[in-house]
Amino acid sequence: MKTISDPEILSGYLTDASNVPGHAEVLVRPTSAAEVAEVLTHCRARGIPLTVTAARTSTTAAAVPQGGWLMSMERLTSIESIGHDRATAGAGILLGELQSAVEAEGRLFPPDPTSRHDCTLGGAIACNASGARSFRFGPTRPWIEGLQVVLTDGRILDIGPEDPVPSDWPAPQWIEPTVKTAAGYAPPRRLLDVFIGSEGTLGVITKATVRLTDAPSEVMGIIAWFPDRPTAVGFMRNVRASARADRRGVVSPQCIEYLDHHCLALARERGLDVPEEARCALFCEQVLEPEHGEEAHLDAWWEALEAGGALADDTLATTDTDGRERLYALRHAVPAGINERVVRNRMRKVGTDLAVPDAALDAMMDLYEAAPIDHVLFGHLGDNHLHLNLLPTSADELEVAKAFYDDLARQAVALGGTVSAEHGIGKLKRAHLGWMVGDEVLASFRSLKEHLDPTWVLGRGNVLSFPGPGSTGL
Ligand SMILES: Cc1cc2nc3c(=O)[nH]c(=O)nc-3n(C[C@H](O)[C@H](O)[C@H](O)COP(=O)(O)OP(=O)(O)OC[C@H]3O[C@@H](n4cnc5c(N)ncnc54)[C@H](O)[C@@H]3O)c2cc1C
Repeated sequence: MKTISDPEILSGYLTDASNVPGHAEVLVRPTSAAEVAEVLTHCRARGIPLTVTAARTSTTAAAVPQGGWLMSMERLTSIESIGHDRATAGAGILLGELQSAVEAEGRLFPPDPTSRHDCTLGGAIACNASGARSFRFGPTRPWIEGLQVVLTDGRILDIGPEDPVPSDWPAPQWIEPTVKTAAGYAPPRRLLDVFIGSEGTLGVITKATVRLTDAPSEVMGIIAWFPDRPTAVGFMRNVRASARADRRGVVSPQCIEYLDHHCLALARERGLDVPEEARCALFCEQVLEPEHGEEAHLDAWWEALEAGGALADDTLATTDTDGRERLYALRHAVPAGINERVVRNRMRKVGTDLAVPDAALDAMMDLYEAAPIDHVLFGHLGDNHLHLNLLPTSADELEVAKAFYDDLARQAVALGGTVSAEHGIGKLKRAHLGWMVGDEVLASFRSLKEHLDPTWVLGRGNVLSFPGPGSTGL
């Protein structure tokens, strides 16, 4: 297969959304599983490290090579089939592109990372990505029905939904925290689980079959304002309990997203209408179930908002396009405002991705709110998974932010949570993973890695430290 070593072409592939710089000598762009197998056996025979690179939206340097070869998935983008229950596509297709094609057939593939129009299907599977709607639908893992995976010895596996893990494969031995998590190798129930969330370290995913569900006929967007955080969290607990009790009830949001007072300030700065008394807000989406009808949903939400202490008269609830655009403008003011600060400060942000069990949410929010530098707190409150974005204005503050993040990660672990709910470990959070799982579990991860990839060819530096020479310690 053609290899590319032109530095100008390679330069477009050497970093990801973490902005960590990387280096590689050769780029390959296979068009089939057979070509992937050819490259893997070549690299394994010669001990050449190989990094799989897809759309490079990883925030953890997972797609950043530390030398060796790079394998881009950009040519494996075809949609093989879309049926009523399943769709099959190449791993390199953009997730949003597959979802649009599925939605055109009246079906839904639910995983919704914010980056879905920029990241690939294979990347989302490799990182077990999730998004706001994972409150209702879970992360990517349960939606995967089949994978084609190429191992480092060149074997091409076509894995079905219930294929078991071969008995001679060492299985990671641990109990994952009972929260949304994308940290470390999952204890595998099925063979598929070995590769989902393995961050490009155990095999190369070339094709996936995903499970589809009914597309909602109509969705109501709601922004509810609150006078303080305890009231907002109390309201969230009520609607969360009601959604957990009945996923299709009159109050059964598919997402419950939080915006703190710094977010509201960013929205106000951008000229958006935010009630003066509001200190925080929740953004929710309610699928309008035909068996209830819009009015029943609206009445039930209204009652819940009034009883829950929201600034009910200011609530925005809408199903029409104009109203939805207002809601999304408010939501998008936050990342846009954060990006502006980052550019103005000329300093990167430090963003957390921790989740904790229900009982630890208040304690974790207290910790976030004690951040020692400028910050913004928002995210997936229904999953106890918030993103604290620390916005340093100097190199000193950047060090303060990193140390604070480390401290938060330790606290999340102590509270029974995870060090990564959705972005994965990559090369930047290996220490956090160690604090979370301990040496024995790391050793069980290493046994699986070495069974499938004895010379540590694939995704070197992701999830686990490479034990051999040449590691930069990244
Ligand atoms: C603005 C922004 C918003 C984001 N929002 C979210 C969010 O809401 N939720 C979320 O979960 N994540 C989010 N992310 C993180 C990121 O988008 C996801 O992790 C995404 O799944 C990565 O996909 P990718 O195609 O860009 O993969 P890459 O970044 O190219 O690679 C990521 C990892 O997957 C491996 N990999 C990729 N393809 C394959 C394959 N075919 N076989 C084996 N390994 C493979 C790579 O080796 C690497 O280890 C966000 C990122 C950005 C920049």
